[in-house]
Amino acid sequence: MHQIPFLLLDIDGVLIPFPAQDKSTPATHTRHQVQVTGYADPICVWLNPEHGPLMADAINTGLVRPMWCTSWRIDAPRLIGPLLGLPAFEHIELPRPAITTSHPDGYLWKRDHAERWLADSPVVWIDDDFTPLDHQWAADRTAAGRATLLVEPDPHAGLQPEHVTTALEWAIDLASSKEAA
Ligand SMILES: [Mg+2]
Repeated sequence: MHQIPFLLLDIDGVLIPFPAQDKSTPATHTRHQVQVTGYADPICVWLNPEHGPLMADAINTGLVRPMWCTSWRIDAPRLIGPLLGLPAFEHIELPRPAITTSHPDGYLWKRDHAERWLADSPVVWIDDDFTPLDHQWAADRTAAGRATLLVEPDPHAGLQPEHVTTALEWAIDLASSKEAA
């Protein structure tokens, strides 16, 4: 039976693009104050309200199973999802490694954990911070029969509609190739 791929979704650099050098944020994005778990003071985030319907429509196709994969952890479904009006979905409980770079071993720090969590499941993963080693991992995983697509927005621009289209078209192709098999 065809396994519906997971869609792993990052937040920083994807739903919350990096600010410009002058600290400005995109005009497309609305600022919000959020009270992050474990922080005394609220912090400011900026979200594109169009990402709500964009992602909700993608999820409602049933072509992918969404999961947050972000250092926001529980605050992704608790704070960010509701601000965008997204349907509720769960998060991968990432560890909190003592690292000073997002690529402590030359690849994205989340990857080993996500890989264990995914086991043999197909996945399309939207994150702004992959390295060439991650792309090699995706190619190797696909070659081993575990279809894997990495979609990598520019962190200064964040998620664009074409990233979601790419993910959904890949999921459609995957479903039809499994049906044909
Ligand atoms: Mg990121």
